Amino acid sequence: MQRKHIRRVCAIGIGAALAVSFSVPALADNGTDTTALRDAVTAEGLLEHLEALQAVADANDGNRAAGTSGYEASAEYVEAQLRAAGYDPVRQYFEYQQYVESAAGLEQVSPNPIVYVDQEDFDIMEFSGSGDVTAPVTAVDVNLAGDRASTSGCEAADFATFPAGNIALMQRGTCSFRQKVDNAAAAGASGAIVFNQGNDVPGDDRFGLLFGTLNPPAEFADIPAAGTSFELGAEFATTEGLVLRILAEATLETVETFNVLADTAGRTDRTVVVGAHLDSVAEGPGINDNGSGTAAILETAIQIAELGDDPRNRIRFAFWGGEEDGLQGSSYYVSQLTKREIKDHALNLNFDMLGSTNFVRFVYDGDGNAFGTAGPNGSSRIEAVFLDYFASQGLATEPTAFDGRSDYFAFINNGIPAGGLFTGAEDPKTAEQAAVFGGTAGEALDPCYHQECDTIENVDLTVLEQMADAVAHSVWTFAETTSAVNGTARGGGNGVANQEFMGSNLLK
Ligand SMILES: [Zn+2]
Repeated sequence: MQRKHIRRVCAIGIGAALAVSFSVPALADNGTDTTALRDAVTAEGLLEHLEALQAVADANDGNRAAGTSGYEASAEYVEAQLRAAGYDPVRQYFEYQQYVESAAGLEQVSPNPIVYVDQEDFDIMEFSGSGDVTAPVTAVDVNLAGDRASTSGCEAADFATFPAGNIALMQRGTCSFRQKVDNAAAAGASGAIVFNQGNDVPGDDRFGLLFGTLNPPAEFADIPAAGTSFELGAEFATTEGLVLRILAEATLETVETFNVLADTAGRTDRTVVVGAHLDSVAEGPGINDNGSGTAAILETAIQIAELGDDPRNRIRFAFWGGEEDGLQGSSYYVSQLTKREIKDHALNLNFDMLGSTNFVRFVYDGDGNAFGTAGPNGSSRIEAVFLDYFASQGLATEPTAFDGRSDYFAFINNGIPAGGLFTGAEDPKTAEQAAVFGGTAGEALDPCYHQECDTIENVDLTVLEQMADAVAHSVWTFAETTSAVNGTARGGGNGVANQEFMGSNLLK
């Protein structure tokens, strides 16, 4: 089954160009010696897993996407490896609705007939309504001047004079795309266009083509809805007598898939969930995204078993399904936890893309000092464990925001502290980053991100081993900690005040 187009701006990301961080907060590390485990996690061991996942993709239409034979074979490989090491992996099944687009179009009918190009000029939002609409366009409370602050379409009052039957032209800002589109539909709009806001936010593209989702809810909106760039949106807003045509056609398909979970012994009331998504996008084999994170946690699990010491706290290795369709597996996992079980989760460590060829060593900004959105209590401690570790190795790092682009989201959203690592996706490397980390400024951190070329050739084994050693260090450190990671305020804190993504797609 062919999935949507090559546009998922995958999970994670947005490398912001900030200062290299070597800060060493107090009490970060409990002094656990992780040398033996780190020595046991080697590039050769990691490479073996990457080769196996590449072979799986080669034998299954070139991908390992959720719901496909390639995903099943990926899971079978991971399960066999875990069993051989003495684990007893289980599958946690779930299903979800996938938006499958079959037709997309945007045209200017008058005054200047123009056919716009899908994925270059516009993108039909996920969970857009289907329809073929031609109508005059009415701008709704847009702001093209100054700071371009926008609440466009967020209030019913914005539509007080809106002519029913027209297409509503709205600007990104303040509320979710779903809210804008639902308000437009309620006001009688026949279609909706949302253009990028056109304001400067560090590390966030607020000018280019907007790839949005109307999920949640995972249901069709009432009208067709497209996203576009600030430039084209501003042109639409200032064109007299503009008539557009929007075409959208899609079905919802039920995907049945599963997570693979494997536990160590240890205190169950301080469970350490170590996660990496196991699914790829449909467009390629997904060896960096996320064979690299899969290999790192799998090899860590195997070597912990090899060394034979039971951890003080239970480690639960989680290979998530359906991440590329909107963090489905990790969200399902957390949704199934009782309040008591949530309290028994000490933390989540998330590893999504660890071998980018033009890498930056990103650490999630748990304390919010770089991006203003802190994770729940304890997240700063997790960040500090990584920063201490990299500093001890003489390796530079940079913070990356908690913005909802990967599987830690459901954890932080439920008050469970989280942290993790990432080496970069579609963002171009800045000159500052190239000066610190080497590589090529101006080129994507992962030049094959979500593409067919995300093969075993698309992984830098040296950085992957560095990151995998940090994975091993953090996992064993938290598995051996004798204190609660999140102090006394369990289940407190918040991490989603500025959540902008639902997995791959923008929410607002
Ligand atoms: Zn990913």
